[in-house]
Amino acid sequence: MKIITRFAPSPTGYLHVGGLRTALYNFLFARQNRGKFLLRIEDTDRSRLVLGADKKIIKILKDFGLKFDNKPVYQSKRLKIYQKYARRLLEEGKAYYCFCTPQRLEKMRQEQMKNKQAPKYDKACLKLTQQEIENNLKRKIPGVIRLKVPGNKTIKWQDIIRGEISFESKDVDDQVLIKSDGFPTYHLANVVDDHEMAITYVIRGEEWLSSTPKHLLIYEAFGWQAPKYAHQSLLLNPDRSKLSKRQGDVSVEDYLAKGYLKEALLNFLAIIGWTESKASSQEIYSLQELIEKFDLKRLNKSGAVFDLEKLDWLNGCYIRQMPLAKLVKLCQPYLPQIKDKKLLAKIVKVEQERLKKISDISQDIDFFYKEPDYNPELLIWKKSNRDAALENLVKLEDFLLSLPEKDFAEVEILEKNIIDWIKKNNYRVGDMLWPMRVALSGLQNSPSPFEIAWVLGREETLERIDKAQKKLK
Ligand code: GLU
Repeated sequence: MKIITRFAPSPTGYLHVGGLRTALYNFLFARQNRGKFLLRIEDTDRSRLVLGADKKIIKILKDFGLKFDNKPVYQSKRLKIYQKYARRLLEEGKAYYCFCTPQRLEKMRQEQMKNKQAPKYDKACLKLTQQEIENNLKRKIPGVIRLKVPGNKTIKWQDIIRGEISFESKDVDDQVLIKSDGFPTYHLANVVDDHEMAITYVIRGEEWLSSTPKHLLIYEAFGWQAPKYAHQSLLLNPDRSKLSKRQGDVSVEDYLAKGYLKEALLNFLAIIGWTESKASSQEIYSLQELIEKFDLKRLNKSGAVFDLEKLDWLNGCYIRQMPLAKLVKLCQPYLPQIKDKKLLAKIVKVEQERLKKISDISQDIDFFYKEPDYNPELLIWKKSNRDAALENLVKLEDFLLSLPEKDFAEVEILEKNIIDWIKKNNYRVGDMLWPMRVALSGLQNSPSPFEIAWVLGREETLERIDKAQKKLK
């Protein structure tokens, strides 16, 4: 049997990173099995619909390389189909009209809560006669169609991630299938479409676990075979609370804007809920490798911690592997003030090792193109004093003056020259390199003095060392 999965987002705003993870898992599983990965836009809840949200989701999937097969299916274009199926259940006596007013339902709910009962429809409208139903319909009294849930069934399924789960049908509400505005509920549309799209595996978030008995009852009412289910765990904060907007970023776009790379984000989302295989400690996976190695059974059910430190680390690995030209392009939007292409490329090259995310490139780099302003005390190395710092800067300047322009063309050459000179004269490394670095950057932490001097060039380097001496006088 061909494996067919789907991603079924509701276009209610931004795409949550958890949603991207769901899409990724469905994609990986389908590709691994040479099956199909379909996209369905669940847009029947008109009150929560955000215009354009579907287009954004589609763009993100494409940008991340999660290519879906076929055109996206929009539920809002399929209303007649859901109504047809709901009528079928009505005719077969498996569903019924309900005309209860919202006031009555609310009162009932309050009473049930007061009596510590789970809120559930009391099946009052099941007693309506055919004549009464027809009269109500004729008088256009607003009504819904509900599933007639049998009272004494045990509903069981084998969840791929969670094992066997069972529910008693007496605990399941006579859920609404078609609302009074003629739109289907999520449950009906979801089941009808999974059936019509021949979905064989549903991989979705844990939050849908409690809907599954309802879905299985609808499958049973239609006499259809249900797909296999895998309910993956939620994304958690490191304190194991649910990852939520209140505590930080949750939308995919936020992470992209912060300078996380798509490859790194996918890699991260794939592995955080993954129980470590003893055989391998591999953490970096390309999308192709993920397709090969992904294993639904290896997903743990206890929650996937969205560990930002790990994401930063992974992202840094991807940045270091990236060809310089590509990285320069990605960094450019964060450094609009640097118009000189050569300077930009040099700065990016120097920072590449240290970047965790692309946006970090804009931190502490002003000194590359602007003379730094700093407290002269900073020039004094901790094992030294003011006079010594000044003396060392003078020696350094003399030495650098003796180096020709071409020695500044490569970091390695410059570094070798300076280190050889320090050794030959038995200077302490910190005595020379600390004031040099501060003179050039004005910072306590920065790239190495050789790298900065390489970016600045001979003339500017000498000028800053000269200025540093003046500051110390
Ligand atoms: N529309 C639901 C969502 O937004 C789909 C749940 C499911 O995959 O069945 O997540």
